[in-house]
Amino acid sequence: MKIDDNKVVEDGTVRCAHCAAELGTLPDHTSEKVLRREQPSTAAGAGVRVDPSVFTDRDVVLRQTFCPECLTLLSTEIVPSDEPEYRTWSVTQ
Ligand SMILES: [Zn+2]
Repeated sequence: MKIDDNKVVEDGTVRCAHCAAELGTLPDHTSEKVLRREQPSTAAGAGVRVDPSVFTDRDVVLRQTFCPECLTLLSTEIVPSDEPEYRTWSVTQ
C-alpha cells in the first residue's frame, strides 16, 4: 500500500519507497527507524527569513525526517519546539 511518494506498507512494515529500508511498523511505530534532524526554522531556506519571535513567544524549529539508508527527505515541519513529538499518521481499515 502506498502511503505517499516516499513510503509504502508491506505486511505491517513501513518501508522507504526508494530503497525498501524499514522505517517502522504498524500500527504505532510507523517512523521508529527514521533519522531525525532539528534546526532553527531559518534553516528552511530563503522563504523563512523572519525571526519567529516576531510572531510568538515560543521557540520554533525546523524538524525533518530521512530514510536511514538512502537519506531521502521524508517529512519537513516548522513547529514550536515544545511540541512533544512529530506529527504522526495511521492506517485505518
Ligand atoms: Zn530509502
